[in-house]
Amino acid sequence: MKQLAQAIRVFTEQRIMPCEAALSAGDEHAQELLMKLKHQARQQGLWGNHYPADWGGKGLSFVDYQTVAQEEGRSEWGPVVFGTQTTLDTHILRQFGSEALQARYQEGLVSGALVGAYGMSEPHSIGSVPSTIETQAHQEGQAWVIHGRKWFISRAKQAEFVVVVAKTPAHPSADSSEPSLSMILVPMSSKGLSFGDDVCLLGRDLGQAELIFDGVRVPHDHLIGLQGQAPILMQTRLKLGRTMNAAHWVGLAQRCFDVMCHRINSPRGQQARLPEKQLVRQHVFNVYQSIGAARAHLRCAGQSLDQGLPSLIETQMAKVAASQALSLAVDSAIQMFGAEGLSDANPLSRIYRMARTTRILDGADEVLINAVGRQILETY
Ligand SMILES: Cc1cc2nc3c(=O)[nH]c(=O)nc-3n(C[C@H](O)[C@H](O)[C@H](O)COP(=O)(O)OP(=O)(O)OC[C@H]3O[C@@H](n4cnc5c(N)ncnc54)[C@H](O)[C@@H]3O)c2cc1C
Repeated sequence: MKQLAQAIRVFTEQRIMPCEAALSAGDEHAQELLMKLKHQARQQGLWGNHYPADWGGKGLSFVDYQTVAQEEGRSEWGPVVFGTQTTLDTHILRQFGSEALQARYQEGLVSGALVGAYGMSEPHSIGSVPSTIETQAHQEGQAWVIHGRKWFISRAKQAEFVVVVAKTPAHPSADSSEPSLSMILVPMSSKGLSFGDDVCLLGRDLGQAELIFDGVRVPHDHLIGLQGQAPILMQTRLKLGRTMNAAHWVGLAQRCFDVMCHRINSPRGQQARLPEKQLVRQHVFNVYQSIGAARAHLRCAGQSLDQGLPSLIETQMAKVAASQALSLAVDSAIQMFGAEGLSDANPLSRIYRMARTTRILDGADEVLINAVGRQILETY
């Protein structure tokens, strides 16, 4: 595991970081470069590090994988290059997908030939309150028919399919007649599925898009899990997804910290006598403390995942702590670089934009803080 983490560090520093400026252009050349890097990572055995063991994964516990994931996260493109992007889909399809879906997508997902997207957020519903979802799906014969809109959908333009969360009629055997939420896999080539407006975040295309479902029909075996089971599947997905993202963010925070300390000790920093200044040392202390706290929460979240514990507190804490550590680390590093840190030629300015999104995606920080506070108080 340590050797794997070390190999990923070397690959990231030697192959990915020198290409980051070109990758951030997001053009055709960037896509080709990304494919090349993915291919090289696969050839070197650095791919799919947390896929299910029987789907070609390495069988690492989450606690062990965290060390690897933090190295994957040192570059914003690490999670794409090392195949982590598809990890959630591999786990969800393996556990809850029909035989037909597994047969169609397993090989492509595991080999990196295709990626999936996840469609939950909508323009007219509250992302933090899934019961407000308006997208509807109903059965007609042997098909599911879907109407609705989804927005901020990551990877939508590259994806082969999107897993949609939609309101479906109550299952005949359910206790209540209220509509429930279900997950349905929709191939992106489906008739009636189109793109809405492009979504740019803080002036940059980070790969999100809007999707419109206008009577999209998919076979009945494209339902993932059972009708009405989406809330449970969403929790399963979020628990692994949040912990994985948190590990990547801690890795990126550590990179910002390293860059900041090198700068403080550099000839330019020495000239300004930065290492001797107490306010500079306070930046170092605060970021170091924040990353250390995030790592501790991450370890607890990893143990909870490995033991299959139902509690959500650990993953919610890890997500918030990692997002705070990354936000503080990149902000402090930019401060130590002065104007140069804000320049687009510097990776910190890109990381800063990305760090800002972490306080909203995967559950807004306020929602998670509120949930953790409530769960803790309930135990007293
Ligand atoms: C980079 C990025 C990628 C994304 N990728 C995807 C994707 O692939 N698929 C997808 O479906 N969605 C995606 N999203 C959307 C994301 O999941 C939602 O933005 C998130 O769930 C929050 O929902 P919302 O934007 O509707 O905000 P809302 O739920 O409307 O909340 C708005 C704000 O209100 C406050 N708030 C809300 N509830 C509470 C509360 N209980 N207590 C205190 N304050 C509260 C918070 O400050 C919150 O930020 C992505 C978002 C970003 C930024």
